[in-house]
Amino acid sequence: PTGYDLLLDPRANKGTAFSIDERQLCRIHGLLPPTVSTPRLQVERFMENLRNMPDDLSRYISLNALQDLNEKLFYRVAMEHTQEVMPLVYTPTVGLACQKYGLIFSKPKGLFISILDKGHVYDVLRNWPIDDVRAVVVTDGERILGLGDLGCNGMGIPVGKLSLYTALAGVRPQYCLPITLDVGTNNEHFLNDKYYLGLRNKRVTGKEYDDFVDEFMQAIVKRFGQQCLIQFEDFANHNAFRFLKKYRDLYCTFNDDIQGTASVAVAGILSSTRITGAKLADSRFVFYGAGEASIGISDLLVVAMEREGLSAEQARKNIFLVDSKGLIVKNRPAGGLSEEKLRYAHEHEPITNLIDIIRTIKPAYLIGAAGQGPAFTREILELMASINKHPVIFALSNPTSKAECTAREAYETTKGQCVFASGSPFPNVEYNGKTYVPGQGNNSYIFPGIGLAIVTCNIRHIPDELFYLAAKTLSEQVGDEDLKVGLVYPPLEKIRDVSRKIAVSLAEYAYEKNLAALYPRPNNLEEFIQSQQYAVEYEDIVPPRWDWSNKTLAKL
Ligand code: NAP
Ligand code: MN
Repeated sequence: PTGYDLLLDPRANKGTAFSIDERQLCRIHGLLPPTVSTPRLQVERFMENLRNMPDDLSRYISLNALQDLNEKLFYRVAMEHTQEVMPLVYTPTVGLACQKYGLIFSKPKGLFISILDKGHVYDVLRNWPIDDVRAVVVTDGERILGLGDLGCNGMGIPVGKLSLYTALAGVRPQYCLPITLDVGTNNEHFLNDKYYLGLRNKRVTGKEYDDFVDEFMQAIVKRFGQQCLIQFEDFANHNAFRFLKKYRDLYCTFNDDIQGTASVAVAGILSSTRITGAKLADSRFVFYGAGEASIGISDLLVVAMEREGLSAEQARKNIFLVDSKGLIVKNRPAGGLSEEKLRYAHEHEPITNLIDIIRTIKPAYLIGAAGQGPAFTREILELMASINKHPVIFALSNPTSKAECTAREAYETTKGQCVFASGSPFPNVEYNGKTYVPGQGNNSYIFPGIGLAIVTCNIRHIPDELFYLAAKTLSEQVGDEDLKVGLVYPPLEKIRDVSRKIAVSLAEYAYEKNLAALYPRPNNLEEFIQSQQYAVEYEDIVPPRWDWSNKTLAKL
């Protein structure tokens, strides 16, 4: 494009960084103020504005607007200021943004496919302007973070996730497509909110819903090919497990809430053993919450304990799940336990109270993923510290308001002895003259690297082994100096290297197992994957020119 359109195309726009040459040749000269900025200055200018804004929602809106205006600059900002910007484009701010989506929606960043489009899902997909889509993140908005049913407003989640694919792993943004399936909402507040943008009916369920999702999966393959990755995100528990089982061997798909969470949590658990010195096989785990996150983590923990020589059955004996009705035990009233929970049901008296459960089980690990907010009380944390020299406390529920406890509470009540990680970010904690750096056990350490491997090497299926491998690779990136300050994850500044390392180890495995369709196998996978990563450097708009007409050809 030339002229004014160039400034409206976020993929080509450089804003004030267009050179005078480019401005004149592309007929945008005069449309911009005369001083040419360097990309560095553009980033500084943006950050200055961002920091001066009154609140995080305004910052979210401003970052979104930048993404629509100048994509390279948006990603440069996100990459150079990851620590500061990630909580604004993703959890916790994205939760707030979803709640307010009806007010702040501006430009399409993905597709909304509603149940009214049934029979025409493919036609909607055709309206996406790019053919070479390689990664889709899809939600139906029923369990957004720990905030519950946000219906069509859940769109903020796939948009944010895919921004992280690019910002944290360098997956090219043009390969990425966020999708929301709108089947209605049971959120009374939205049903009565005049600004709500989704369908104003209760959720469609049952066969009609299942057929719709089936049609969606088939339409994706028809439109973008069999190798297109489909990441399920923030579906309600019951559907999440069902769809994973139904689709995992038919499509290139995974469920991030189950499998991505599992991988990042197991990585943190593997790192924690370097502090506590205990083997997983000798440790007991109590999970507060028995949903997608906890079951996913448990299943992958079993894989990890099998590596230490336990049988799956023995491994499950170390794992205790607590749901809304208390400890999961075998003699629950009939019909009380799903298939997933049943795997972890113990022969044990029912206990309902978390503190009594901990007193009885004496776990080394207490992992919270119930989405219920503060639940790890001072008494509970002190109890954990009285049972263990280094109790491991993970408060995974998002957003921050839903966390089981804060980092400060965990460090203070355990007198600095605990190993702590959380789902949403917490600031560093000064305690007794020492600085503790809480790790963010966030899936964003895992899924971007997985996405990068899949998108670059065309991995066809995603077996559980890949999530274990990702966890192991992530944990290996944690240095001794990180562990010293309590960090069980590598610092966020290293995340792009970490993502690439994860992608490389997955790609190696995939080629070994004949799961990668890109042929021939690149000789050097690391170099190849690096060469495929998105670069934030502006591209030359002006094509190379050379003196031509005055040259005379040598006489024949
Ligand atoms: P989910 O599938 O809906 O599971 C929630 C679980 O919590 C259910 O088992 C539920 O019990 C249980 N629960 C609810 N109230 C409870 C109570 N009062 N006491 C004990 N258990 C209770 O949700 P999910 O996908 O697992 O996600 C849960 C939370 O984890 C969310 O806040 C989410 O943001 C967070 N999460 C964090 C990460 C991360 O940071 N890496 C990743 C994934 C999820 P019933 O089974 O009896 O209903
Ligand atoms: Mn999620």
